[in-house]
Amino acid sequence: MNIIAAENDNKKTIAMRMTNSNLNRRQLMKMLGLGSAGSLLGSAVPTLAKANGRNAAGGLNHNAAEGLSLSGSRDKSTPSYFAGLPPVTIRSVKAIGTAPQGANLVIVKVETSEPGLYGIGCATFTQRAEVVVTAINNYLPDFCIGKDVDNIEDLWQSTFVSSYWRNGPVLNNALSGLNQALWDIKGKRANMPVHQLLGGKSRFAVDCYAHADGKTPEEVAANVQKYMDQGFRHVRIQQGGYGSLYLAQQPDFKDAGFGKATDDFMDARAYVKAVPKMFEVVRKTCGEQVELLHDTHERVQPQDMINMCKRLEEFDPYWIEDPLTPENMHLFPQLRAATTVPFSMGELFNNQNEFIDYMTRRDFDYIRCHVSQIGGISPAMKIAHLGEFFNVKSGWHGPGDVSPVGHAAQCHIDLNIWNFGIQESVFFSDQLVEVFPGSPTLRKGYMYVNEAPGLGVDINEKLAAKYPINNNAGKWTIRKRDGTIIRP
Ligand code: MG
Repeated sequence: MNIIAAENDNKKTIAMRMTNSNLNRRQLMKMLGLGSAGSLLGSAVPTLAKANGRNAAGGLNHNAAEGLSLSGSRDKSTPSYFAGLPPVTIRSVKAIGTAPQGANLVIVKVETSEPGLYGIGCATFTQRAEVVVTAINNYLPDFCIGKDVDNIEDLWQSTFVSSYWRNGPVLNNALSGLNQALWDIKGKRANMPVHQLLGGKSRFAVDCYAHADGKTPEEVAANVQKYMDQGFRHVRIQQGGYGSLYLAQQPDFKDAGFGKATDDFMDARAYVKAVPKMFEVVRKTCGEQVELLHDTHERVQPQDMINMCKRLEEFDPYWIEDPLTPENMHLFPQLRAATTVPFSMGELFNNQNEFIDYMTRRDFDYIRCHVSQIGGISPAMKIAHLGEFFNVKSGWHGPGDVSPVGHAAQCHIDLNIWNFGIQESVFFSDQLVEVFPGSPTLRKGYMYVNEAPGLGVDINEKLAAKYPINNNAGKWTIRKRDGTIIRP
């Protein structure tokens, strides 16, 4: 290539780059020093013509000026996020509370300066929903409006410290809703589902566990079999709910008039004896193939937990969930050394930093946390990646008090991370799916997100308003026989 040809080639390259910015034709000519660039730009113009859509290879021209031709006219037929207008800013942030299935759900909706472009995220702290709604509506708009929607990490970090005091569940849930909504917006701008933005799929779908309960071990086994028949390979088993409350007799504290009549009583001794028997019956009835999980809900003393887990080893549990209260976490190394059963832990953790010591010591095997409690997709991805280096897998909290938006967010993470473990699942009612069109679906024990851009879920605000949230404080008052509170 001679010098002139090389120079022209260089100018063409510059021209191509320039067309991908907001420069108009006049600026372009001036900078290139061209009196008449017709011949040179001949090859650049077609690139401009495609700048508001897909490139020749079928990919998106993300750096291209949106719909701008050399004459500066705008192609209104192309949604602006296909081409990536710089910058799109936050126009409004608000909370949407709804309870279509009874459980309070809180959604953050972020609207942008781009007409019609918005994102939604899950901020559900079901027991204190009204407080989260207040945190969102009273504090996030002033802090967020006008900021660039693309800078998800900066918005997470700055919002996190904006109250100075931090790490609480209320503000973290508000932050999570904002964070998930921003990932939703970014996905829509990129025309990709969020799992693609996280690095693409590591698996075709998300393996889930179902919940089997029953008053007797035989009833539990029959329900496990029902789920196995539906295709589930993993089932969490509980006998009479958390702590097997129905095994307890009338407690002395009620006879003495201590506490409220509605307070629950748990007989820890009856519970730790019942669990191994339940596992034994389910194993005998349902065989060795099915993976069995159990949630202790942090309700027994550490030594009782150690003794119970040693008895469970022969039944090969997939995981024992939340064996210690947050207040007893320093005893985890002793628990770990005493038994070989795998543990999932972290449902009550509030912050990503709480995982570090336990995971680097491999005290537990599965990251069990409420993604909105720790601040959303961004911190969850960091915890998951930390786990990859220590062979700790994911097991996000996914009951009915996580909204379908939150389930979708978890599902996108699950699809991407290498160290995925298992996902808790629930069945969404038709009523819930009407409020949240595009919700993930379950087939043969696998969860699927739809491949729509963003999180893939929307919210019907009119319908959502028909199911107002309530101020039920939650039923977490559980006492010992003498009335002492059990930490749940
Ligand atoms: Mg749990």
